[in-house]
Amino acid sequence: MTPVTFVQLDFAKYPFLKQTSKRIEELELTIQNLVSPENKPILERAQKRLENAILMTNSGDMVRDNRTEISSFATAVILVIATKNSFIKKRYALAEAKSAYAHLLNESKENILAIAKDFDWDLTASKELPYDFCLGFNFYLKNASHFHDTKWKLVNQVLTNGKVYLNKDKVARLLQEEIRKRIEERLNVSELKSLPEGIISIANNLTKIAQEIMGQEVDELPKVVVQTAFPPCISALYEEASKSHHLSHIGRFALTTFLVNIGMSSEAVNELFKTFSDYNERLTRYQIEHIAGERGSGTRYKPPQCSVLQTHGICKNRDDLCRRVYHPLKYYEAKARSKSG
Ligand code: SF4
Repeated sequence: MTPVTFVQLDFAKYPFLKQTSKRIEELELTIQNLVSPENKPILERAQKRLENAILMTNSGDMVRDNRTEISSFATAVILVIATKNSFIKKRYALAEAKSAYAHLLNESKENILAIAKDFDWDLTASKELPYDFCLGFNFYLKNASHFHDTKWKLVNQVLTNGKVYLNKDKVARLLQEEIRKRIEERLNVSELKSLPEGIISIANNLTKIAQEIMGQEVDELPKVVVQTAFPPCISALYEEASKSHHLSHIGRFALTTFLVNIGMSSEAVNELFKTFSDYNERLTRYQIEHIAGERGSGTRYKPPQCSVLQTHGICKNRDDLCRRVYHPLKYYEAKARSKSG
């Protein structure tokens, strides 16, 4: 196979590679000049990376300019360290790894081999159909040991002469794990000294978003879904989704978290998104199940509170009850109670 030379777009897609670190160094970005006006697009994209990571566990849409995209990863790393928040650290590493996984699924065999080499993996192209690759079994075990699904158990793999035979999808998933660990290690810095005020303020804002996502408590929700008790914002999103209209990331996140929290099954939520033009069954299911706490850490995510939804333009058609609640689930709880009583 022809050896691969990475181009700028590859560095933008995989900014955690050792080779990309060299490119970032060449850009001569310093923490102090990050807040200068000429670097505004970089800081904005870094902020988006993190908001998406916290709310949707992905790094958001790439920008066209590769330099901005590459630099925004390094900037996001600084912002994460500035938050000193372990939830954001873990969430960001996972989000970047998941976005990389989505790119890897569309990557050529040659590029996958080159990316695996960056992690010193013993990965080669397979000559045995239907497998794409074979991987040294200790590299396999190192990354698959955390996966609970039986399809990852070593006894369920084709193993010959110390090599595990795998398709592209599985190699991409194993690489996702390796990427997550590398990014987590990079974030493992206790403190950065002399941060500019602009960076501290963005970091504080991100911490607030993370706390709002994790810390909502709701007393008692009805056992069955009461659609007539949906708050206006969620009714609007639900209607848009039912008509297959595009929803923003935060809109999808708000709707999905709301529906899984009021007891709608992951399957039913998936059905709702099926008619979207950008529907990707595997990714959508994964995201819903992750939000519902059926995968990963087992944490079920709550919808953002009203103040966050207001900032993102999701709060619509406020009514009287909206004036007395601070969270869409609180609205639902109160409205459903008034209907049953
Ligand atoms: S106030 Fe809250 S519950 Fe009411 S529409 Fe706005 S975001 Fe939704």
